[in-house]
Amino acid sequence: MGIGQELSVVNVTKYYGTFKALEDIRLICRPGEFVSILGSSGSGKTTLLKVIAGFERCSDGKILLNGTDVAAVPCFKRNIGMLFQNYALFPHLTVAQNIAYPLKLRKVPKAEISSRVSKMIAMIKLTGLEDRFPRQLSGGQQQRVALARAIVYNPPLLLLDEPLGALDKNLRHDMQFEIKRITHELGMTTISVTHDQEEAFSMSDKICIISAGRVQQFDTPEHIYEKPANRFVAEFMGTTNIVPLKNAVYEKDGGQCRISGDSELTGGKCQLQVASDGIRESEKEPFFALRPEAIHLLTEGMQSKGNIFEAEITENIYLGQYVKCKAKAGTLVLNITLDVGEFRQLEGKRRVRFTFDPTDTAILYE
Ligand code: ADP
Ligand code: MG
Repeated sequence: MGIGQELSVVNVTKYYGTFKALEDIRLICRPGEFVSILGSSGSGKTTLLKVIAGFERCSDGKILLNGTDVAAVPCFKRNIGMLFQNYALFPHLTVAQNIAYPLKLRKVPKAEISSRVSKMIAMIKLTGLEDRFPRQLSGGQQQRVALARAIVYNPPLLLLDEPLGALDKNLRHDMQFEIKRITHELGMTTISVTHDQEEAFSMSDKICIISAGRVQQFDTPEHIYEKPANRFVAEFMGTTNIVPLKNAVYEKDGGQCRISGDSELTGGKCQLQVASDGIRESEKEPFFALRPEAIHLLTEGMQSKGNIFEAEITENIYLGQYVKCKAKAGTLVLNITLDVGEFRQLEGKRRVRFTFDPTDTAILYE
């Protein structure tokens, strides 16, 4: 059994004056889950963490820890591990003393403090710098000390606000791995804020995409990528192609739904297939999202994957294993990722046929 608590954010709305920073946020994080809050700057990520931590009161709704409303519990009694953006270390304490602080506060025996602190220092790769003061460290080093201080006492709930923002790429990768390992080993429930998609994907059991204070989708990384809930999520998660579909006709078959409609892309009928639960009986005309890597070059003698369209390649960028292309089909400008083998088969031709599978699409209504 892990130590993690269950966190429920129940219909939380937060106003700053008349400005609505969070609107009707609903999240459930199961014990031991690692959840990333992903959104652009100003979307309300830090505000949400502050409300969970108790630094800000919500205007409406509640926060439950293991099913109990924490509104009445002052934040210092909530036993939440926290790393906020302005990771204020105690300036008069050394690295080791900063990390030991939460353990001292909890009256952990001296020998155990010293062993846990040295483990943490090794984890954050600052061995040898134990006796430095914060002012003698770089920004990235300070951030790692703050991270160690937040984790060292095994909090049942850990809140991280852009915990690796000050680190360069290689170190960030190492730390992502370490944070994931430690939180999973101990079963801490962790909520981590980031604007870095790759970080969210590599670390999380679930991702919560937030925009303008509203949850756009709360789901597993696979679903967020493959089954985006709306156009915002599809576009936010990387270059995708959004294609309108007219006069859509639906045909349900068990858990699947075949959709056929007119598309400018194919200059005629287009066939799609998605899980039936992704379909809404909506008066709105749907769009579909088509990932750049779901589009394949259709060469002589090769079998079509179901849909065929013609496009003119206008740009290509060689990236080693694959080539990113832009192509025009009618008024649509598409992003297409070809692997190097496919790209070679182009032999310099610009106007070519492409194909995609009806199941490699996601249907969207808003
Ligand atoms: P993020 O962390 O996603 O960048 P924040 O949660 O910090 O976003 O801010 C969300 C919105 O709320 C922003 O528009 C910000 O300007 C506003 N905001 C944040 N804190 C306050 C505050 N104390 N008073 C008024 N507005 C605030
Ligand atoms: Mg923030």
